[in-house]
Amino acid sequence: MNRKDFLNLLALAPLTGVEMKLNALNSITSSFGATETMPVLFLGHGSPMNAIEENEFVAGFRKTGKELPRPKAILVVSAHWETRGTFVTAMQNPRTIHDFGGFPKALFDVQYPAPGSPELAQETKDTVKKTEIGLDHAWGLDHGAWSVVKHLYPNADVPVIQMSIDHFQTPQYHYNLAKELASLRKKGVLIIGSGNMVHNLRMVAWDKLNTPDYAFDWALEASNKMKTFIVSGDHQQLINFSSQGKPFQLAIPTPEHYLPLLYALALKEKNEPISLFNDKAVAGSLTMTSVKIG
Ligand code: ZN
Repeated sequence: MNRKDFLNLLALAPLTGVEMKLNALNSITSSFGATETMPVLFLGHGSPMNAIEENEFVAGFRKTGKELPRPKAILVVSAHWETRGTFVTAMQNPRTIHDFGGFPKALFDVQYPAPGSPELAQETKDTVKKTEIGLDHAWGLDHGAWSVVKHLYPNADVPVIQMSIDHFQTPQYHYNLAKELASLRKKGVLIIGSGNMVHNLRMVAWDKLNTPDYAFDWALEASNKMKTFIVSGDHQQLINFSSQGKPFQLAIPTPEHYLPLLYALALKEKNEPISLFNDKAVAGSLTMTSVKIG
């Protein structure tokens, strides 16, 4: 039942009991009442090992987390949840999904028990008009979400929901869809895109894993162009990434790690500050470059 149906039902209900239901409804709406505009983040999540390692990227996430106003809830668009259609997680307690293989047991032992927010899921569904957002009860938090959010909020005390990426839609569609989420920023919701701007796992230089900021020429070129477009606000160039030539093709062999960037950028208001952090390459073909808007 959506909120409109609920209100219609209330209108039909006898007076007794209505008050109680209205109180419950008020507590839902007031939990996402007006706040100052929350910042928006794009986080380069990189290797799942960042969840348990201590390194400069983790330090960057932690520092950013401390600078943010405390959100009422978090909505993450993760590279690791692709669907047909768009869904938001709507369970009370999302499970920690270990969606990777070949890593140490210590990583599989990590739990991030942040609560979900069925209220924010419904709010998101109600906010977006151009497409029907499905409420999901099966997913949870994948590592694109928990491996970075755990550094922002180590106590797992801020509710987190995820929004999926419709695999069958264009970059422009995703950018436009993200714009519809803008009002959530004024309701205390921290929106995070989690992916990697340059992400080519097939070309990883495994022998350069421990060489700081090692980037192939094409990765550096793509990264520099992306950053120029981000800082100048030329989003259309970024939406049209597939016509940006060979370096972009190598940087974005598949779009799922790049699209969360478009979700974040679409939410930037005119004249809002934008800054980069964790702006380094890893193993030639990945960048950890992250963006803070607001
Ligand atoms: Zn990833």
